[in-house]
Amino acid sequence: MNFLEEKILRDGTIKPGNILKIDSFLNHQIDIDIMRQMAYELKRRFRDVTVNKVLTIEASGIAIATMLGDLYDVPVVFAKKSETANSTDDKYMSQAYSFTHKKMNSVFVSKPYLHATDHVLIVDDFLADGQAVHALIDLVHQAGGEVAGIGIAVEKGQQKGGQQLREEGFRLESIAIIEEMDWQTQAIRFRDQPRHELGDTRIKHL
Ligand code: 5GP
Repeated sequence: MNFLEEKILRDGTIKPGNILKIDSFLNHQIDIDIMRQMAYELKRRFRDVTVNKVLTIEASGIAIATMLGDLYDVPVVFAKKSETANSTDDKYMSQAYSFTHKKMNSVFVSKPYLHATDHVLIVDDFLADGQAVHALIDLVHQAGGEVAGIGIAVEKGQQKGGQQLREEGFRLESIAIIEEMDWQTQAIRFRDQPRHELGDTRIKHL
């Protein structure tokens, strides 16, 4: 079991609708030590890849992306969300349906921040159906850049995003992959992990 899986077991809560709440260390309060470990882990997994920019989407991806940008010593760009698709010439724009907010968002990056020469590492907190990541890929491709890889903190393996991105040929690395979770029993199972019971945890292993 890796550090992130252990942290999820200790501090996460499963909500109805297949939502994992990890506000205490990622989505509201930020645990800097966990962010640092995630950044090191992603850099280790992408050690054979050339990266000159890190791209994420506001808001929760920014913390991990910033740590990673520090390790690579490269700029970090975050795509902004807007409810209206007011396309203008100075932005790359795409669309993503929000899994958590159940609505369509326009996402954009201003043109000066993405280039055809960029080797972009895309980073986000969660991967569910892959809407957010596909919008980020679209923005990189509009600029003529290359997606060097996709680094995710928590992939929800029961949803289609991860499989789809791998089938599309992207190099995807997720630090924790949830195979199944149940809000009624607060039980969770990670991919490629043996059954394991932690004594003092709120979420139990399936
Ligand atoms: P996707 O675009 O892959 O369908 O969903 C990923 C986005 O939805 C992430 O950026 C994240 O903000 C949000 N998200 C998806 N599932 C969860 C979840 O279980 N918990 C939390 N906190 N956010 C989630």
